[in-house]
Amino acid sequence: MDNQFRERLMGLIDERQQAYTDLSDEIWGYAEPRFQEYESSKAQQEFLKSRGFSIRADLAGEETAFIAEYGTGKPVLALLGEFDALSSLQQEADQTTHCPIEGKSNGHGCGHHLLGTASVAAADALKTYMEENKIEGTLRYYGCPAEENAGGKAYLVRDGFFDDCDVALTWHPYTMNKVMKGGFHLANFRAFFTFHGISAHAAGSPELGRSALDAVEIMDIGVNYMREHMIDAARVHGAITNPGGIAPNVIPAEAQILYAIRAPKVTQVKKLYERMCDIAKGAALITGTTVDIRQVAAYSNIIPNETLADLIGENLAHVVPIGYTEEELAYAKKFQEVITELDKDALRDQAAVLGGKERKKEIQEMPIWDFIVDANSSYGGGGSSDVGDVSWVVPVGQVYTNCYAAGTAMHSWQAVAQGKSPIAHKGMLAAAKVLACAGAQLFLQPELVEKAKADWKEELDGESYPNPLPKDLKPEIW
Ligand SMILES: [Zn+2]
Repeated sequence: MDNQFRERLMGLIDERQQAYTDLSDEIWGYAEPRFQEYESSKAQQEFLKSRGFSIRADLAGEETAFIAEYGTGKPVLALLGEFDALSSLQQEADQTTHCPIEGKSNGHGCGHHLLGTASVAAADALKTYMEENKIEGTLRYYGCPAEENAGGKAYLVRDGFFDDCDVALTWHPYTMNKVMKGGFHLANFRAFFTFHGISAHAAGSPELGRSALDAVEIMDIGVNYMREHMIDAARVHGAITNPGGIAPNVIPAEAQILYAIRAPKVTQVKKLYERMCDIAKGAALITGTTVDIRQVAAYSNIIPNETLADLIGENLAHVVPIGYTEEELAYAKKFQEVITELDKDALRDQAAVLGGKERKKEIQEMPIWDFIVDANSSYGGGGSSDVGDVSWVVPVGQVYTNCYAAGTAMHSWQAVAQGKSPIAHKGMLAAAKVLACAGAQLFLQPELVEKAKADWKEELDGESYPNPLPKDLKPEIW
């Protein structure tokens, strides 16, 4: 294929970049947390409506979910976007000291304002290109709520909104440019264990009480013992969300613990979760309490796709190096100086993995990593993403582009502060170009879609989506 389609798409994104950066900055300002992304979702919907997309909103019980669509017939390409912020991460833009914005409680510490907007931009440019060239097929943008802490996409998958899709593309902002292969994210369940006991005077009549807090503590001890007998890659972490009061002389009648349970495969998580349910029942039996178990979220592991990874990689090579001005490099340097000592250690480790003995020092000193990191190089990971659920029902291709100073930790106020910078904007536009160009190739070369599907089937190896969400579970803010 010649490069004409690429030139046109990249040109369109460059021409319209002001509109895209304005939209991204607007959503950075809203900084709405999971399932409350009302203004952010509305801004994206209005933008895409004004560009001629039809909109279906309020999907799978998620008020802020929507699908914008253009075109007809096959293939159906899904571009995935997000827009949720994280709680307790408010921060003034561009400030290298921690300055929370007064009256605000959330911030875009994972760059989802960029994530959604780049996918919107890719959809917008691709639509123009399809119109100009009379290309058959259906182009969709999925506005996906609550990636953080609720796994919003899993509800859209469970309720069939991806059933007729042939292929999906998405990306994530990061501190490097890299094709995302599988195996990086862990499958993850979240569940509340609520114990009910009997309140009594802790000194006067302890024999009349049954402590729900004791049950929480015993459950956690049981979970600690379970850790000895689980695979190395699994992770279990809990937070006591209700200790049952603050009075030591009152036996707590109710107490609650929330666990996140992670492992490479969703089937492994399911087994650990079942063991933890037994531990909870044991703790209830020991303490004479009862337990309610409520699973509230599930994320599946990602099914990798070699064809889509290659396609993404080919297009990533056309946008990297991104190119930065002296001013932008100085801006990144300023942020690199204020990362924590632990993050500086991590930066050193990453530089050693990427550069080996020869280039380690050079990479460590770069304020921005303006090169492509080998897709097979590995470090970090351990997080979870609901893109995994989509990848069980549709082949998915993913990419990281650089949006921050090297060494910036995601989910930090430093990442929030850089979210409206030219570096963040450039990374977002680069991602939009990769997605738009890869999308165009999927429309222009249907054999690529078939190849991606064949890869996907091979990876699944006969397994089908284990649908980790209980059938009657509704999206909720917890
Ligand atoms: Zn994220």
